[in-house]
Amino acid sequence: MKLRKVSAAAATALVLTLTATACGGDGDSEGGSGSGGKKITVGIKIDQPGIGQKTADGSYEGFDVDVATYVAKELGYDADAIEWKEAKSADRETMLERGDVDFIAASYSITDERDQKVDFAGPYLLAHQDLLIRADDNITKGEDLNGKKLCSVAGSTSAQNVKAEIAPKAQLQTYGGYSECLTGLENKAVDALTTDDSILAGYASQDQFKGKFKLAGLKLSNENYGIGVKNGSDLKAKINTALEKMVEDGSWEKYVKKNFGPANYNYEPAPKIGNIVK
Ligand code: GLU
Repeated sequence: MKLRKVSAAAATALVLTLTATACGGDGDSEGGSGSGGKKITVGIKIDQPGIGQKTADGSYEGFDVDVATYVAKELGYDADAIEWKEAKSADRETMLERGDVDFIAASYSITDERDQKVDFAGPYLLAHQDLLIRADDNITKGEDLNGKKLCSVAGSTSAQNVKAEIAPKAQLQTYGGYSECLTGLENKAVDALTTDDSILAGYASQDQFKGKFKLAGLKLSNENYGIGVKNGSDLKAKINTALEKMVEDGSWEKYVKKNFGPANYNYEPAPKIGNIVK
């Protein structure tokens, strides 16, 4: 292959150029048509229907996508100036610390531990940890999970809560994304999938799973969704202003109805900025 002949120095230069092009970490990198050519890079989930999902045509939809688009607009970036990046649960702090993204809206719960590494604007949604189980199964409380095979995602609060509090004797399997747990639940490799009810409701309402799965309906925790930014970033205050406006002008209500309505998700009222429910 000809490429092999490229010198190490040239290869490094190429990688650096590609990296610089791909990252919009400082929020004012050049390129794009709208917003005076400036781009903003936003981390989202891409496999969570109702929250953040990549569609067949390559675009993105969901509550977090709508919230992020509104926030970006308030920061001076049109929708076509947004560069979306998948932010897996276990990668979020690192992506912000490295400057890979300007902000993250990815079912990202505000926790004390994460708050040491990054800053959070919000909260903008209050969800609760729950279980998705097979329709013919009966799990009525967290302790019922002891001894059962439970699936969650690495780096999520849900996995941590199970180990630390809810059911320390559950056989916890952690994957990179929730969609992998769904296959396991369907073919009985696992007995339950645990994460936020906001996410589980979206899965349960998918055509391919209708009638197969149900939510256990347990409020196992409070998950205060925040928008993550780099520690010390002045974006936090600006995003908080945008989030407040989003609630006041009725956009928040519009977005929850549009995205959670199809899944019949019984969402909590809009939280007040800075009001974290423990
Ligand atoms: N909201 C929880 C968290 O931030 C679970 C959902 C997720 O993994 O994104 O860990």
